[in-house]
Amino acid sequence: MAHPDSTLITHIGELVTNDGEGVFGARTDAALVIAEGQVAWTGPASQAPAADAMVDAAGRAVLPGFVDSHAHLVFAGERSAEFAARMAGRPYHAGGILTTVAATREASDDALRANLARLAGEMARQGTTTLECKSGYGLTVADEARGLALAGEVTPEVTYLGAHVVPPEYAGDPDGYVDLVCGPMLAACAPHARWIDVFCETGAFGAEAAATILAAGREAGLDARIHANQLGPGPGIRVAAEAGAASADHCTYLTDADVDALTSARVVATLLPGAEFGTRHPYPDARRLLDAGVTVALATDCNPGSSYTSSMPFCIALAVRDMGMTTQEAVWAATAGGARALRRPDVGHLGVGARADLIMLDAPSHVYLAYRPGVPQIAAVWQAGRLAAGSATRPSP
Ligand SMILES: [Zn+2]
Repeated sequence: MAHPDSTLITHIGELVTNDGEGVFGARTDAALVIAEGQVAWTGPASQAPAADAMVDAAGRAVLPGFVDSHAHLVFAGERSAEFAARMAGRPYHAGGILTTVAATREASDDALRANLARLAGEMARQGTTTLECKSGYGLTVADEARGLALAGEVTPEVTYLGAHVVPPEYAGDPDGYVDLVCGPMLAACAPHARWIDVFCETGAFGAEAAATILAAGREAGLDARIHANQLGPGPGIRVAAEAGAASADHCTYLTDADVDALTSARVVATLLPGAEFGTRHPYPDARRLLDAGVTVALATDCNPGSSYTSSMPFCIALAVRDMGMTTQEAVWAATAGGARALRRPDVGHLGVGARADLIMLDAPSHVYLAYRPGVPQIAAVWQAGRLAAGSATRPSP
């Protein structure tokens, strides 16, 4: 019997399901049924049940929607001149963030909202169906709370990042700023957020401050994540493991002890190759992490300074080309891996009962995401079973 308001997608050339424990799973000549916003059935096309509507994939690939678990979308202004200068040889440092802080504080709610909607739309058209969004360009009580409230208009995965950098007005009193982040700012921000994050890096926050901030956040009901080991070796991974963080993000410079800590504390390593692309740092060694049994996620780190890409396919291509990941591992990391980093069992896979977040490629397999970098290949995107972008119409030959 057909499900009410059900949709059958059939003649799928490759259906990526990720429905095993921690493994990429796919079947060829497959079909999938969406009902009530969830995946209701998957299997061979020849055995597909009837449904109210039918989409002919005509041999194209269907994947879980991308889960971009790390993005900074609440900001004003842009920094293309800084990027051009960096490409001409000037190094990246954490202080560039303050340029965006100044522009963001000046911006109206509507200007921030419009920029956020533009970037979220850009992500949707490129296949992202779950996105995380941080504050961190306000750095006052009112501006951080405002940023989080705006982020909450586009995603439930909202992260309080008051501890992005120390703002200029606290330059002489960084401890006073940590007190603010853990006190009045946290009180104003916690109702708008699910997560707390800290930029643990030379030039931003040290180990002691980072641990204090994550502990205060957890006390207020927020789960921990961290920016760690992006620009050089440091204590961030240890802090993440001790705080029970869901994810340590960047992981570019790791010691063997850091890799062991990620494995034993079961912290997801979220790799952000757009940042290495945009800063000319070496890419993180995903192969080393995978071989050690670490769960790896890929995300964009979309922000106007170090990584102004919103494209998960671009990150997949970099991971395959330069980070030692297979095409299967990279696609898993961009979908199921991101879901682990956000502790979201309902997304990142297409097992029965998963949220029907899926993308159809204009290509026969997931390999094309890395094989044809920079080419728009997302034909259609469904979010919770509804067509959110593109068209499922069969392409003309
Ligand atoms: Zn970031």
